[in-house]
Formats: sequence, C-alpha cells, structure tokens
Amino acid sequence: AKREGGNTWRLFTEDLDRKVQHRMRLEADLRRGFDAGEFHLFYQPRISLEERKTVGLEALLRWTSGDGTMIPPDAFIPLAEEIGEIRALGAFALEKVCLQWVEWSARGMEIPVAVNLSAKQISSQSFVRDVLETVDRTGMNPYLLQFEITESAFMEDPDHAQEVMAELGAKGIRFSLDDFGTGFSSLSKLRMLPISELKIDRSFILDMESEKTRGVVSTMIHLAGSLGMELTFEGVETREQLEKLRSLIPGGMSASIQGYLFSRPLPPERIPQFLASELPD
Ligand code: C2E
Ligand code: CA
Ligand code: CA
Ligand code: CA
Repeated sequence: AKREGGNTWRLFTEDLDRKVQHRMRLEADLRRGFDAGEFHLFYQPRISLEERKTVGLEALLRWTSGDGTMIPPDAFIPLAEEIGEIRALGAFALEKVCLQWVEWSARGMEIPVAVNLSAKQISSQSFVRDVLETVDRTGMNPYLLQFEITESAFMEDPDHAQEVMAELGAKGIRFSLDDFGTGFSSLSKLRMLPISELKIDRSFILDMESEKTRGVVSTMIHLAGSLGMELTFEGVETREQLEKLRSLIPGGMSASIQGYLFSRPLPPERIPQFLASELPD
C-alpha cells in the first residue's frame, strides 16, 4: 500500500532482472565458448620439499572468452555444474591433459599429472568407462594420472564414489583428497578410502601465524604419515610460510608444495622449461 514499498519492489525486480539476464548471458556464453574452443588448461608444478624438484603437475581449466576476458574457474565451474555442462567440460579437460601428457612423454618428460573432478562427473554411470576409454585411446600412462576430489564431492554418494575409485585404482589411477581440512573429514572414513594423497587447503597456510593452526597442521602431517598418504600443501606464497611448514614436518617425511612461491599455473608450452630449471632452496 505504501509508495516506498512499491519502489522497493520495482528496484528489487530490476535487480533480479539484471541478475537473471547476466546469468543467462553467462550460460549462453559458456556453451558458445565451449564450442568455439575458448577453454584450455594451465599446469601448476608441485615441488618436493626435500628434493627440490617438480614431482607433479595439476591441470587447471582456463576460459579466455572471445573478447579476451579471463573468466576464473570459480566462476564457471559451478555454473557448468548447474547447467549440466560439467561432464562435457570434464571430459574435455581429461582428454586434453592425456594428449598433452603423451606429447611431453614423447619428449622424455614423464611427469604425474592431476585432474580435478566434480561430484557430477563421478556420479555419471559411464564415468569409469569413459575415463578408461580416454586413457586407452590417448596412450596416457594410468599410473601417472591422478584425480583430485573434495570431501564434499565424495560425500554426495560415498558408496558409488568408493566403487569408482576402486575400479580406476585397479587400473593404476590414483586419487587425492583436495582442499583437505575444509570438509567434514571423518577420520574413520578416511582410513578406508583408496586415497593416496592429502592436499592441505590454502586457508591453513594463510593462518600459519596462529599457534592453534600450526597445531592442526602438525596433526594433519602426522595423520598423512600414519595413513601412508602423500602430503601436499597448497597455496604456499612466501618463504616464511615455507619455513614454518618445514619446521613442522618431521625429518625423513616427504611432502610437497604447490604455490606461487615456486610457480603460478603455467601454459603448457612453459612446462618443459620449468622442468629443466633450477629451483631455489
Ligand atoms: P583447486 O583445485 O583447489 O586448485 C587450486 C587453486 O589455487 C587454483 O586456482 C590455483 O591457481 C590456486 N593457487 C595455487 N597456488 C596458489 C597460491 O600460492 N596462492 C593463491 N592465492 N592461489 C593459488 P584456480 O586455477 O583459479 O582454480 C580454482 C578452482 O577451480 C580449483 O581449486 C578447482 O576447484 C576448480 N577447477 C579448476 N580446474 C578444474 C577442472 O578441470 N575441473 C573441475 N571440476 N574443477 C576445476
Ligand atoms: Ca585441485
Ligand atoms: Ca585445492
Ligand atoms: Ca579449492
């Protein structure tokens, strides 16, 4: 009944219109961009702490839209999941990674490479078959292929996820638990999962000033050790963070680092040079 209320409503609907329009544009853009080949992959090196060498790469999707704008994955992955395009995008990423790996391998670079998975991909009934078909057709070495999944992706359908992991694991493909420490981390579940690596979330590294956080990180380090899992720290940007981590890791235990301190994600053509370069201490 009040004029003010009317105005608010009008503003609200205009705002909603804009949001809906923006989203519809992004949706159409994503489908068009995918068909137009605007998606590609960058690779971020993972460095062994004690050996000071690159021990793996993580493939990360990039979208350079027609007008040159870079759209970050945190913006388009959730959208692709919502509009049912994530399977196509995920299949594209896997195929691209396998072909790239085979090319590197032919040039003498045999490096493990990790691909991120979304829950919607794992839940597909044909996922295992599709993955094995791609690995087979491209000549990818399954023992050097890793999939990264988050705890929440796993929890959507734990039984099915476990089955998928066991079937792919039997072919040599390994799994990493991504963003570790941010999900619900049921220890009893973790013990039973065919997971070969924990990737500690960047939020812990950002908070290494806090004694409590260092305590938690220390616990995660020992957890990985007692479960016989590899350990990677994501998002290490500074030497201070690296030194703090070093002080928490017991001698003889191996761990690796992924972060801007050593390298940002790189376009594939920069990888051979990076692999050949000396890393700082
Ligand atoms: P993620 O799997 O946790 O990947 C690590 C993210 O941290 C990447 O962001 C990487 O660029 C960033 N990062 C690495 N080191 C540092 C650092 O030292 N500092 C900071 N500030 N950031 C660092 P990116 O490439 O933007 O990807 C964001 C997320 O998008 C990924 O998080 C992953 O969840 C998702 N994503 C990327 N590619 C794919 C894909 O092919 N499939 C699926 N399903 N998700 C993907
Ligand atoms: Ca990841
Ligand atoms: Ca992560
Ligand atoms: Ca993440």
